[in-house]
Amino acid sequence: MSDKVAKSKEQWRSELTSEQYEVCREKGTEAPFSGVYAESKTPGIYVCACCGQELFSSASKFDSGSGWPSFWQPLFPESAATEVDVSHGIRRTEVMCSKCDAHLGHVFDDGPLPTRLRYCINSVSLGLKPDPNSGEE
Ligand code: FE
Repeated sequence: MSDKVAKSKEQWRSELTSEQYEVCREKGTEAPFSGVYAESKTPGIYVCACCGQELFSSASKFDSGSGWPSFWQPLFPESAATEVDVSHGIRRTEVMCSKCDAHLGHVFDDGPLPTRLRYCINSVSLGLKPDPNSGEE
């Protein structure tokens, strides 16, 4: 796996938009249906908005109806780090970029087969590298 990326809050603040900083570095959550990738069907690879690490494939994206981009598995098992999150009085599993520790969202066990997992991810935490062979921009 690639080396970890570690930057100060000031560095991240200068490189990210205020919304990206709030979600990725301060564990915020974008409003549902507000993100550009919630409904996207464009084939490609989703990367970390902070460090560019490849995180999810459009091939494992599904329409969860939640208003956030949802995937049933990460691109590689080691792409997404998880940690128990007990904030807001709920026990959830936080999903982070394994390379730069960006907060991405949470993973729930109510997803579709084959994994039954639902990686519920903030659009603002992601970038999309469209598949050059898909014929879409
Ligand atoms: Fe990252």
